[in-house]
Amino acid sequence: MKKFFMALLCCLFIPMLAFADKTYDTDVVVVGAGASGVTAALQAAELGAKVVIIEKLPSLGGGTICSGLTVVGSDQQNKYGFHQFTDKSYVFKKIMDYNHYAGVAPIVSKFINESNNSYEWLKKHNVKFDPIFLYTYLEDPAWHPLTGHCAGMLKSLIEEFKKYNITALTETPGKSLIIKNGKVAGVIAESEEDGKVTINAKSVIIATGGYGGNPDMVKKYAPFKGFSVNKGSKFRVGDGINMALSAGADTHNIGLMQWHDPMPKTDIGRATRSGFNEPFFWVNKEGKRFMDETYRMLWAYSGNASLNQPDGVVIKLLDAATVKHITDNGGALYGVHDLKPNNDFNKSVEMDVQGNKVVKANSIKELVQKLNKNYGFNMDEATLQATIKQINDSYANHEDSQFFKNRQYLREFKTAPYYALVTYPAFLGSVGGIKVDENAAALDADNKAIPGLFVVGLDSGGMLYGDTYNIVSAGQTLGWAVNSGRFAAIKAVDEMKK
Ligand SMILES: Cc1cc2nc3c(=O)[nH]c(=O)nc-3n(C[C@H](O)[C@H](O)[C@H](O)COP(=O)(O)OP(=O)(O)OC[C@H]3O[C@@H](n4cnc5c(N)ncnc54)[C@H](O)[C@@H]3O)c2cc1C
Repeated sequence: MKKFFMALLCCLFIPMLAFADKTYDTDVVVVGAGASGVTAALQAAELGAKVVIIEKLPSLGGGTICSGLTVVGSDQQNKYGFHQFTDKSYVFKKIMDYNHYAGVAPIVSKFINESNNSYEWLKKHNVKFDPIFLYTYLEDPAWHPLTGHCAGMLKSLIEEFKKYNITALTETPGKSLIIKNGKVAGVIAESEEDGKVTINAKSVIIATGGYGGNPDMVKKYAPFKGFSVNKGSKFRVGDGINMALSAGADTHNIGLMQWHDPMPKTDIGRATRSGFNEPFFWVNKEGKRFMDETYRMLWAYSGNASLNQPDGVVIKLLDAATVKHITDNGGALYGVHDLKPNNDFNKSVEMDVQGNKVVKANSIKELVQKLNKNYGFNMDEATLQATIKQINDSYANHEDSQFFKNRQYLREFKTAPYYALVTYPAFLGSVGGIKVDENAAALDADNKAIPGLFVVGLDSGGMLYGDTYNIVSAGQTLGWAVNSGRFAAIKAVDEMKK
């Protein structure tokens, strides 16, 4: 009988507990605890605001992937003699030239002018940086690598939350905005533990990382409609952008993605990936070369070039001599994913051949047959043979008369067996999203700030660019995340004090 009453009590009370809704009253609520959200929360709290931050994943900052951010005028640039990059006018003009003034100049200007203050602010909050270096010879020394990548940065910033009594709720996805008298006045979230969570706030800062993990939104907004590979998080599904849209925010450059080196559909060995990314010999599915392969170092460029190919397909080719060359001598590229001399590239390739991820053939005829059979292509052997003749002639003449590739990266394609890696357009995430002003305040179609609403990081990243993410002064998505997070927090606190 006692057991029966216990069971009855449980039946009566567990549902009540599950739906025990919670309400918070705060100054600032931040939706999303990645790079931009964590920065915004800490900055707002440091300036005296009461802050609640909500994150849909089980841990704060747990899903953010990145390594370094753009800074202009840093102590490191001075120390290592990159003086040109301490000149803000030089960098501003360079970035605006890159985006053909399609990026919004006042925002680019504030981003550059404040980037070193944000870098110093991070250091003040115990974020550590590794020495800067040129990732490729085509880039600027802008990218400042974080010790321990983004995880290192976020760990340091999150440790500071205690000091400022920031309330952080995990597994609490933001669902909709509270709008009162034409002003954004908080967020409705959900939690398995607490049911409906209402957070009333003077300002909302949306920081949910874009829509790259939402295939429907990618199809809707990105101009490339074929198959593409998402190399970023599958949890960034456009929640924040959709919430801002529902409050009347306008979009800006929303279709801009962070296109990257084309990638295979399935995972391959890390060494295989690096070796096939060497700047030697790429063709499209018709067997035609289409770019100076060295421009894969500026990966946004190889991303763009892949989008122009039939179905976006890029086939990366290596002959046996080049596989051996890369294995013995290491990669021509250096940086984060380098191959040092005497590496295991050859073993990694053979493993991926066994796994049917890399095609191996003893003749060009067999290579074409296998590509056509395994991937449904319709490549003409004569076309590929003509392209191979062209690349071998370029090598013999020390001149790529088609795409004018730096002669140091010209190689023959002559020694069987031949290897091919079939790849598709790939992106790190979305960049474009909501239209914002210099304070990251969301703007409506009349360019008026929506009271109480800020949108930061990848949810509003399109403001800095034209049609292509800027890889020349690299680290701009994280740079914008940190800077826009701070801009929004500073303005929100300012408004609060009025
Ligand atoms: C492999 C890789 C390498 C990269 N390297 C670099 C680099 O070196 N430099 C660089 O500039 N950029 C890099 N990036 C891009 C980098 O990921 C972004 O710059 C950065 O994460 C943007 O920060 P964010 O705050 O906008 O988004 P995120 O850091 O992704 O944070 C968004 C957060 O919001 C949470 N969220 C989503 N929806 C909700 C919701 N409804 N409610 C609550 N929380 C929600 C997410 O779980 C996440 O924690 C890289 C990306 C990849 C994939």
